[in-house]
Amino acid sequence: MDDKTMNPESLMMSFGYKPELSEGAVKCPVFNTSTFVFKNAEEGKAFFEIAYGIREKNEGEEVGLIYSRLNNPNLEIVENRLTLWDKADECAVFESGMAAISTVLLEFLSPGDLIMYSNPIYGGTDHFIKHVLTKFGVHVIDFDAHDTKEDILSKINKSGWAEKLAMIYVETPANPTNALIDIQMCSQICQSFSNKDKKVLLTVDNTYMGPLWQHPIQLGADLVVYSATKYIGGHSDLVAGAVLGNSDLMARVKGMRTFLGNQTSPNTAWLMMRSLETLKLRMDKQESNAKAVAKFIKNHPKVEKIYYLGDLAQNQQQKAIFDKQCKGTGAMVSFDIKGGEKEAFKFLNKLKLIKLAVSLGSTESLVEHPASMTHAGVDVEERVSHSVTDKLIRISVGVENPEDIINDIKQAFE
Ligand SMILES: *Cc1c(COP(=O)(O)O)cnc(C)c1O
Repeated sequence: MDDKTMNPESLMMSFGYKPELSEGAVKCPVFNTSTFVFKNAEEGKAFFEIAYGIREKNEGEEVGLIYSRLNNPNLEIVENRLTLWDKADECAVFESGMAAISTVLLEFLSPGDLIMYSNPIYGGTDHFIKHVLTKFGVHVIDFDAHDTKEDILSKINKSGWAEKLAMIYVETPANPTNALIDIQMCSQICQSFSNKDKKVLLTVDNTYMGPLWQHPIQLGADLVVYSATKYIGGHSDLVAGAVLGNSDLMARVKGMRTFLGNQTSPNTAWLMMRSLETLKLRMDKQESNAKAVAKFIKNHPKVEKIYYLGDLAQNQQQKAIFDKQCKGTGAMVSFDIKGGEKEAFKFLNKLKLIKLAVSLGSTESLVEHPASMTHAGVDVEERVSHSVTDKLIRISVGVENPEDIINDIKQAFE
């Protein structure tokens, strides 16, 4: 029995940590140190040669620690543990999800390149793509969950920059409506625009499903990005991000991180290690709670429509994507309340157990009003065309007793 044959949840307490290097401590301590002592000058020189890509690693050569902006034991251990869920070669952790996302976009896009992204998308990513990348001369186009492969190909070809396509960036399921995008289809589109000089990369934001319920790298994605603030952190007490991919791409991501200096602190990495120990327990419980909550909401007379991955029966196209790429129905339940902003606010203000706050994937249930909160910055017409209207409410279901969550929703409706 070795690490390769065990399930990731069995390895979250031990993988990558050697107690004998830390006085036998069963738990990995926090390495609150900015710099590391070299045994001698030759060793310092060798570590820098590898870190700065001056030469390749020799057979069996171990690269030591240099400085906490480049590497640190807490970062390396949490990164190694995160690779197990997505079956990725490597991982890099960042001080926020936005730091992870913006670093990937800055590293792999150059002036004149074209990026195509799925819409709707997380508000911060939307802003970075539309207002920051365009400032550096990157061309931007979008598509949505209703678009077929032919629609997407035609949008790329009509843009006038097809030969400059460098990346397709996808968020699936989309926040806040759970709309699904076919990852394998996007990977095929990337391949059809790649040639011997250029590989078009597929990046997937897996925050809503990961790392348990969807594994984009197995479906053809090149890079996976996370807001680790959400399920991975899972307790609403840290802000962090992660990127995963193959060794070649991750060497570039880590290189850019070294120069942007947006790596996580040892303390945050240590908190993430604590969180990973209960990741599966938490996510399993959140998923089963969400099933019960969705069932109650769906049948309530004050509800017009529900957006939930466990309820896609009426939509063949979305159900087919779900069956192909999702391993769970998640813990995000959105719905349209009958009425508009007034009715939505009245409901939100009456909730007691469920906290009125943005963010998601945490142990406590959270509720928010996307149109006036997380998606307030999105153009109104664009927002409404993706069902983000004044009557939409988004719930992130936590680990409380499901009866108490349902009773809270029930009394707020009444
Ligand atoms: C929260 C979130 C982000 C941004 O992550 P931060 O940790 O807040 O920087 C990106 N994508 C999705 C889908 C998110 O939910």
